[in-house]
Amino acid sequence: AVSQLPRSCPAMEGTTPLLDAEAVGDLVLLDPLTEESLVQTLQERFRRHDIYTYIGNVVISVNPYQSLPLYTPEKVEEYHNCSFFAVKPHIFAIADDAYRSLRDRDRDQCILITGESGAGKTEASKLVMSFVAAVSSKGEEVNKVKEQLLQSNPVLEAFGNAKTVRNDNSSRFGKYMDIEFDFKGEPLGGVISNYLLEKSRIVRHVKGERNFHIFYQLLAGASPELLRRSRPRSVGGLGVEQELGGAMAEVLPPLPSTRTTEAPPGLQALRIPEPGELQLPAPAPLPSPQGYYGRDALAKNIYSRLFDWLVHRINTSIQSDEQRKVMGVLDIYGFEIFQDNSFEQFIINYCNEKLQQIFILMTLKEEQEEYVREGIQWTPVEFFDNSIICNLIENSTSGILAMLDEECLRPGVVNEDTFLNKLNQLLATHKHYESKETQNARRVTDTSLPPRCFRIHHYAGKVTYNVTGFIEKNNDLLFRDLSQAMWAARHALLRSLFPEGDPQKVSLKLPPTAGFQFKSSVALLMKNLYSKNPNYIRCIKPNDTKSAMVFTPELVLAQVRYLGLMENVRVRRAGYAFRQLYGPFLQRYKMLNPRTWPRWDGGDRYGVLLAGLAFPAEELAFGHTKIFIRSPRTLFDLEQQRQER
Ligand code: ATP
Ligand code: MG
Repeated sequence: AVSQLPRSCPAMEGTTPLLDAEAVGDLVLLDPLTEESLVQTLQERFRRHDIYTYIGNVVISVNPYQSLPLYTPEKVEEYHNCSFFAVKPHIFAIADDAYRSLRDRDRDQCILITGESGAGKTEASKLVMSFVAAVSSKGEEVNKVKEQLLQSNPVLEAFGNAKTVRNDNSSRFGKYMDIEFDFKGEPLGGVISNYLLEKSRIVRHVKGERNFHIFYQLLAGASPELLRRSRPRSVGGLGVEQELGGAMAEVLPPLPSTRTTEAPPGLQALRIPEPGELQLPAPAPLPSPQGYYGRDALAKNIYSRLFDWLVHRINTSIQSDEQRKVMGVLDIYGFEIFQDNSFEQFIINYCNEKLQQIFILMTLKEEQEEYVREGIQWTPVEFFDNSIICNLIENSTSGILAMLDEECLRPGVVNEDTFLNKLNQLLATHKHYESKETQNARRVTDTSLPPRCFRIHHYAGKVTYNVTGFIEKNNDLLFRDLSQAMWAARHALLRSLFPEGDPQKVSLKLPPTAGFQFKSSVALLMKNLYSKNPNYIRCIKPNDTKSAMVFTPELVLAQVRYLGLMENVRVRRAGYAFRQLYGPFLQRYKMLNPRTWPRWDGGDRYGVLLAGLAFPAEELAFGHTKIFIRSPRTLFDLEQQRQER
């Protein structure tokens, strides 16, 4: 059993980092378990710069908003091939565990990173990638592959990230990347999938935010001549030269958080040297609302198709022909509850609902499989199953997305009110749906539902959605003559982005709606994730001011709820709160048994505990390779007895 001890780890003596009495490193050991004690533990750990905490093999990461010496080559070495229990909780420990399981046990892995904007998801995904790059082999070919994989990040961030109120380098798209390995565990390449780029940012953004980084970077690199030609004359007159110069000097990302650079004016205002060139794209006279709509739709379409093209282009250069093993990394927007929630939040929260579903299914499945593997009796446990909410949204006949599609297809006057009425009628009795009508019928006392809104009871809380814009956003239509104008462009890339503009291929079929497309890509993603061994990183933003060392408990509590952490802990300790391989466990507690101590030879795994300790039988279970302990208290008792020796 002693040989199971990992080679390069610090001795198993002293306190294990997980069993720290004031601030447990694994929340599964939290006793009592309440929202309050959970948040307090995170706060105490954060204060000590212990920004990582486990729930079993899930890692919670609290954004430190400062650079901590946690990611040095020495740290990489420390966590590489180290025992999970012997070292402090760390994102590298999860990455190492996943990588080893992929390499040595041939199990495809996925790393699911969630959390709200600014919580540190993208940084976490990059840390995982660099760790894997650092610990896999260093041959010349392999290094080239690694370099390419890592270098895809700045390119995608340039086009897909922007400064927002919440985050100076906010990802405005969801990203899933499969890193492909050969049988020896050396990276071969990768494939990236992107989800739901926030294309509306192209035409407008709120005050204090900016457009996508790429525009500022282009300006930064442009020649004075190009700048002079493309900038409206008024810019100089307004004295913004300097500000623009400042923006140019910046190398993004990340922006220093103290800067509040506004978007340089005139980004959208281009001078057209030959007005005649407008003839083609502007053939039909339109009343101004449609004109604006058409213009915006065109700009959004060009940009989002360009983004898709870019992802595709990166894939063609990093994708490998052969692949043996895969590690998927998902960096996707977390649950959103804003003051005003629209179609985008609805879609994002639907995605999170699906991720929560897969989390519960996979965790329970994994627990169950481990118990079977270890030969331990499994008693099923009751949990909140959120498939009822997923179904409410995605059911192909009666789901909200299907009803929205139906409204979008209906000829004649369609508007959001008819859509809302229909929902209210058909979902009147649904437990997770709320409208004015259902409120009246159920005599709900809180009737604070604003007009044109419906409310969904998500696993993470109630969210009120305003239906305004749902139909237009779901339809996402581009006037046909605009596609045709783009297809007729001399610019080869632009032309290739609008294949439907080819007059030879005019189709009367409507393109799939945004909701339908999203639902399909989420279904594909879920299938992909479900085939892999999951690893979770839950990111938390400690404050709203991007400050180091500030921890606002109310904010964290809200995220603890959105992330479903309490449920997470409950699922994890459904059967047994704690489990460990016999080797390290017996090493630690061998002195508690007078019969075998000090001459214990590493054998007699049961005797060590049973003879020396008085525990109720149901507290312990002996698996084939691991010992299982039902409640955290028992473990702490053991720990205490050990300290008293
Ligand atoms: P969004 O959903 O808006 O894309 P995000 O969750 O991806 O947000 P990040 O961009 O990863 O958030 O992190 C926001 C900022 O927080 C980073 O630019 C960095 O300044 C800081 N940060 C995040 N993680 C760490 C870390 N581990 N150490 C130091 N700073 C960090
Ligand atoms: Mg991000």
